[in-house]
Amino acid sequence: MDLRLLLSSLIPSLQSVYVLVFYFVYLAVAGEILPGKVIRGVVLSDGSHLRYRCNGLLALTMLVTILGVSAKLGVLSPLVVADRGLELLSATFIFCVLVTLVLYITGRNSSDKSSSLKPHISGNLVEDWWFGIQLNPQFMSIDLKFFFVRAGMMGWLLINLSILAKSFQDGSLSQSMILYQIFCALYILDYFVHEEYMTSTWDIIAERLGFMLVFGDLLWIPFTFSIQGWWLLHNKVELTAPAIVANCFVFLIGYMVFRGANKQKHIFKKNPKTPIWGKPPVVVGGKLLASGYWGIARHCNYLGDLMLALSFSLPCGISSPVPYFYPIYLLILLIWRERRDEERCAEKYKEIWAEYLRLVPYRILPYVY
Ligand code: NDP
Repeated sequence: MDLRLLLSSLIPSLQSVYVLVFYFVYLAVAGEILPGKVIRGVVLSDGSHLRYRCNGLLALTMLVTILGVSAKLGVLSPLVVADRGLELLSATFIFCVLVTLVLYITGRNSSDKSSSLKPHISGNLVEDWWFGIQLNPQFMSIDLKFFFVRAGMMGWLLINLSILAKSFQDGSLSQSMILYQIFCALYILDYFVHEEYMTSTWDIIAERLGFMLVFGDLLWIPFTFSIQGWWLLHNKVELTAPAIVANCFVFLIGYMVFRGANKQKHIFKKNPKTPIWGKPPVVVGGKLLASGYWGIARHCNYLGDLMLALSFSLPCGISSPVPYFYPIYLLILLIWRERRDEERCAEKYKEIWAEYLRLVPYRILPYVY
């Protein structure tokens, strides 16, 4: 693609703006009116907590059904995303900049004293815009952080489905594409089945809402995690039967470790006496779980996530590094994040954390790191 063509396909058309507006309005309305389990968020430093309605799975199922029926009736092309990927990307980028400027201004002007809305102002414009000013800003009673991450995860699936439709239309549907699509769809559906676990993750409890998080949720997740799918539209890969089996194996083990570790921590936080792998949990200082996956490495959940990320790229073979963008990025992100999380935990738990480090010496990969 020459540069002029690339630049012109980055200019958002009105149709891509409509697609985004429809998407956000749908998510806002569905999130508010559809039934779902209401989860109490973690207790904030002022003793308060937020509530999250976890109806993402229902909202996603309804959205995919609406889009499927519209495609069948010829009202909407299922290729709309695959054909307009670049303009949707730039429209999303512009939206991220605008919304974070509004967040910056409203955050600066807030005089709220609660933990979720209290402004954290460093005085450096770029830093405050990038990292955000408030922990959990809201718009018309919608928790924006929870909303954006939901939009990003659903967007990833919608992009993939459009890529799948495009490969059907092109006649280029391959085993690699099917494997990639199945693994990602299972991962995203699993995310929404366990949406309540999101309420206790680092992003929700510790990160303020600024450009970094909004961009990460709305643009980075859907558009870069789907690079493998875009790549497979233009590249053919022949997979052997053992390669497919090995690929499924990496996915399944990754899933078991990722989901198992996150579930064990979630259950432990709710009731520290719940047995782990059929035995009473090993607990440090009454607060930290040191058995199950959390006794193997201090962030086994990151290990599982990395294996899953690898399994999404393996269907593309090893002829190009491009489809490995996601696992490589995730490796860097999770190593960095693990270090930041350890610092936070060392400060919060003090000698209890030191004891946990003694009991569980590995960070992510047992005997290696
Ligand atoms: P964790 O879910 O690992 O949460 C870390 C927090 O858990 C700590 O701050 C501490 O919080 C608590 N904790 C740590 N160790 C223990 C223990 N032994 N016992 C009890 N509590 C403990 O981290 P994240 O929120 O970063 O990640 C959640 C999931 O999201 C992971 O699976 C990760 O892989 C995934 N993820 C995926 C990304 C992607 O781009 N695909 C990006 C980021 C994350 P507290 O103060 O509450 O005790």
